[in-house]
Amino acid sequence: MSAGLYFSHPACLEHDPSMLSPAHPDTPERLLAIERALAARWLPGWERREAVPATEAELGLVHSARHVRAIAELCAAGGGAIDADTFVGEASFRAATAAAGAACTMTRALLGGEAAVGFCAVRPSGHHAEPDRAMGFCLFDNVAVAAALAISELGAERVFILDWDVHHGNGTAEAFRSRSDVLFASIHQWPLYPGTGPLEDAGSGAGEGFTINLPVPPGSDERLWLSLLERVVLPAAVSFRPDLVLVSAGFDAHAEDPLAGCRLSTGSFGELARRVRDMAAAAAIPVGVVLEGGYNHRVLAECVRCALVAFGGAGEARPLAPETPITVRAAARVGRYWPL
Ligand SMILES: [Zn+2]
Repeated sequence: MSAGLYFSHPACLEHDPSMLSPAHPDTPERLLAIERALAARWLPGWERREAVPATEAELGLVHSARHVRAIAELCAAGGGAIDADTFVGEASFRAATAAAGAACTMTRALLGGEAAVGFCAVRPSGHHAEPDRAMGFCLFDNVAVAAALAISELGAERVFILDWDVHHGNGTAEAFRSRSDVLFASIHQWPLYPGTGPLEDAGSGAGEGFTINLPVPPGSDERLWLSLLERVVLPAAVSFRPDLVLVSAGFDAHAEDPLAGCRLSTGSFGELARRVRDMAAAAAIPVGVVLEGGYNHRVLAECVRCALVAFGGAGEARPLAPETPITVRAAARVGRYWPL
């Protein structure tokens, strides 16, 4: 068994919003920076694999046929603007189906017992894409499609999704807001785009309690992020008894990221990863990690390496700092649904 499986697809480099919006931060250079860093020093024991693009049926597990068709047709017509942040070109549909397909290919391999951890180095990212709407650089919700596939076709009964991108994963939250077979937890800066994800929103209907939103103020550092993960999110996830963990792994909560104001360090992502790794190992379930944001190229590449080395088994989680008032308030809210 490999230490980890690394999935990518050349089509993910063909999506380039900067062709229509010159200062756009989501450029192919993001992936190239990751690839360069890993080519210089490959991850010990990790195996590289090419993704299989998602089918329309797989995308249809989360997205409406109307949405999938609209993206396909806009790209086929040469592309254009979807909103003020979201642009597609002729190749973007190919890139987006490759990105969602990578998450599906990885999930099949992980639930097939081929490795304990996988990573998808893909773009466009997915967690802002709602079932019927592209937004926030995202066309299809890669992690949501993989989670839905795991449950509908791969025998998983419950999937835990952790979204540690600095922006709220509104798309994933919407996809599963009334379902009790997916526990979605997001730590995100607020106020910040897209403005959703208040602590009070715990999901709805049969899904009430299965959405955990943990907004943190600008300037929040590792002490708060790790405290929320270890004291609030992971105890709930353990009680949920998932068969699979998926991570929407953005690296834009780093202090040097240009799009947000949190203050994580490169090492913080290793600390986040170690805690998730240890929780999954104790439950003997795999972890699939999918790239979301991260817009400082050098920092992004360093953070990805740091997280993947930790997911692959290196290092032990450092003890936590004392809890903060924000953690106490979050634990009281989430504790209505889960024993923390
Ligand atoms: Zn983000």
